[in-house]
Amino acid sequence: MLNQASIKLEALYPEMVALRRDFHMYPELSFQEVETPNKIAAYLKKLGIEVREGVGGRGIVATIYGKKQEKTGKTGKTVALRADFDALPIQDEKQVDYKSRIPGVMHACGHDIHTAALLGTAKILKEFEHELSGTVVLLFQHAEELHPGGAISMVEDGCLDGVDVIYGTHVFSGLPLGMIGVQEGYMMAASDEFQIEIQGKGGHGASPHESIDPVVIGSQLILNLQQIVSRRVDPLQPAVLTIGSFQSGSTYNVIPDTAQILGTVRTFSEETRTDIEQAMQQMIQHTVEGAGATVQFTYRRGYPSVWNDPAETKRVETIANQLVGNERVVRVPPQMGGEDFAYYLQRIPGNFVGIGGGNSEINATYPHHHPMFDVDERSMLQIGKLFVSLVAEHLCLSES
Ligand SMILES: [Zn+2]
Ligand SMILES: [Zn+2]
Repeated sequence: MLNQASIKLEALYPEMVALRRDFHMYPELSFQEVETPNKIAAYLKKLGIEVREGVGGRGIVATIYGKKQEKTGKTGKTVALRADFDALPIQDEKQVDYKSRIPGVMHACGHDIHTAALLGTAKILKEFEHELSGTVVLLFQHAEELHPGGAISMVEDGCLDGVDVIYGTHVFSGLPLGMIGVQEGYMMAASDEFQIEIQGKGGHGASPHESIDPVVIGSQLILNLQQIVSRRVDPLQPAVLTIGSFQSGSTYNVIPDTAQILGTVRTFSEETRTDIEQAMQQMIQHTVEGAGATVQFTYRRGYPSVWNDPAETKRVETIANQLVGNERVVRVPPQMGGEDFAYYLQRIPGNFVGIGGGNSEINATYPHHHPMFDVDERSMLQIGKLFVSLVAEHLCLSES
């Protein structure tokens, strides 16, 4: 099946490009996707694939039932493949004819590539359903870019019911076309945010003794918080605590009433994550209350960390080696960015893999979420081939 499927995918490339460019020209923001899921569902239905719409909000679950098991009477495995389809609030600045037609909205992360590649994969797998001894579940997920994300609600709506293993890909502009980046264990960080509201007592800048100065207390607190990662966290556990905003006061000679501090925490292990939250709670309370002010601390958990199952990573790596050659398969270092694919991996084993899409000849080298972002569309072929190979590996093994 594999060789034939590969040839068919190559032939399908112009259609995948057309799909991708249509998604690219008409991007939709997270939790506001309407036309995108409609287009996805219409394409799948036309192929005769079973489609469940509105999953967990705006997601789509498509199921391809292998026909081989009907003959043998055995129930095979169920393999899930995932693509996300939301865009970002960014103005598309690149000069190409498929540039975004929607002002201020852009596919600047490559989710259009993921979706078009999975639609192409769906078409091929449907053609080969007679050779599959199990089930393929295709997850088209809304709202990856915006907390709480689409994955968690799709999981709660049963998108993983009966699924044994899941794979997802992300095209990377920083990885040249033709390369595949794998990582065992932690791959993307848990990303949380926090807000600290200090209530002091405002007054005249010349009479600090009659006030409680939230600027000085906030400054002290920011420095103290820097000790959490350096002094409280196990040095072998990666962690970041960044203050992104400190707002207080508005003029020269007034001690303000309040101060607000905003920041983010990135971690890999759940234990470190919880430890940091607790240490912050303690430190904030003691620093602020010790200085006579009061404080409100809000810690919002974002996506958990992406943890790739070692056995599934090995499987993906072996297939990647066959597809592009050992020298083009690299270990990508874990990143402190977040990805809600983590929610699927919390429930079932699987793998999230990076696909090279960078190409300086076509200006596809800008970082993700940049107004000039683009990737080489041939990355869709790599995604398609990898997905088809993984399905073949699980569902075409035994001929009996
Ligand atoms: Zn993104
Ligand atoms: Zn993304």
